[in-house]
Amino acid sequence: MKSLLIQGGHILDPSQGIDEIGSVLISKGKIAWLGKGETTPPQPDYAILPVQGMIVCPGFIDLHCHLRQPGFEEKETIATGSRAAARGGFTTICCMPNTRPPLDNRFTISYVNSLALSQGMARVLPIGCISKERKGKELAPMPEMASCGVIAFSDDGSPVMNTDLMRRALEHARKLGLPLIDHCEDTVLSDGGLINEGVISSQLGLKGIPAAAEEIMVSRDLSLARLTGARLHIAHVSTTFSVDLIRRAKDKGAKVTAEVTPHHLTLTEEKVIGYNTNAKVNPPLRTKQDIQALIQGLKENVIDAIATDHAPHTEADKLAVFAQAPFGISGLETALGSLMSLVHNGQLTLTTLISKLTCEPAKVIGGKYGKLGNLEVRAPADVTIFDPDMEWVVDTKDFASRGKNTPLAGSTLKGKVMATISQGKLVYQDDSINLESN
Ligand SMILES: [Zn+2]
Repeated sequence: MKSLLIQGGHILDPSQGIDEIGSVLISKGKIAWLGKGETTPPQPDYAILPVQGMIVCPGFIDLHCHLRQPGFEEKETIATGSRAAARGGFTTICCMPNTRPPLDNRFTISYVNSLALSQGMARVLPIGCISKERKGKELAPMPEMASCGVIAFSDDGSPVMNTDLMRRALEHARKLGLPLIDHCEDTVLSDGGLINEGVISSQLGLKGIPAAAEEIMVSRDLSLARLTGARLHIAHVSTTFSVDLIRRAKDKGAKVTAEVTPHHLTLTEEKVIGYNTNAKVNPPLRTKQDIQALIQGLKENVIDAIATDHAPHTEADKLAVFAQAPFGISGLETALGSLMSLVHNGQLTLTTLISKLTCEPAKVIGGKYGKLGNLEVRAPADVTIFDPDMEWVVDTKDFASRGKNTPLAGSTLKGKVMATISQGKLVYQDDSINLESN
């Protein structure tokens, strides 16, 4: 394949402190050259992608998505989910194991790995279960899954309520050198809950999920992380006090990392008014005060990464009455556009936002993938190009994802992915930009 010059963009690579106009040459799947200003690469033969006025940054890394295959192919597949990732600027996506059958053994994990290789438009990294069949009773064969290349363990969607099992899972994860991703929810306290517990849940007559249901488990598992010395990663942090707890644990030296979703950073519980099932998500959308605490957490590095928790469902699933509709938002294709609102309104710098989508999530994964998320020469050519100011209307008909379930349908976002390069391959380009030859 011919080399590709991404020419004249605003290069932003927080890992190297690069923030200036320049060009990037991609050759044989790697970053081959990076030049500042109007310099051109030494080698003469390449195609040109002109990107004046656009941001050129490392490909986004999503620590948390649901690709639904095997078992729920009507909701999403590895092919459609990774195409949605490419459209959203994500070049690496970590998929959760709550499939049918679940990813709790080497056979299902090998199946996902082979589909990812043959059909993936992004690097797809599977996460293995903590417990067999995600039932929270018996540990899944963690060493066997590690040897198949899982990058972490999680029973996401089903919290591990048995504290002793959680302790043993953390001990195994530590021995294997892998993080354990924790869906924090006390299901006894949250049982039957549908939305955030507060004024709106009372007004709508829907059972609430108190913030404490999350915070109790955050607290428990931070204690277990200290006890075991394991790397604990807290998924989808949604409350003010969770941020405080994580801050304190980090201050005390616990090996804890945390993520927050675009929807918890930009939408409040008010989105469910009118019984909008597309805003029904777990943990639930919270309050303005929680959003402020989450943003502060990002700024202070209490929260390390932004992860989508992309959770596609069919339209029929979400047409159910509110109590029966499944939790989840299809988030890969709107992530950048919604997050850019935080930059446009001055709450986050562009550099902080990009670091939370690139080098910081790479560090959470660690190991050989810990070196992703940068534009260093000889690094894999994972590059995202976006227009920070372009406005577009979210039309779910355009989604590559089978999941059209988003509370953002019809809204205008400012900031649009224009091209995505994954491992040297141009996997997505907006209709408006064209390749030129030099
Ligand atoms: Zn979860």
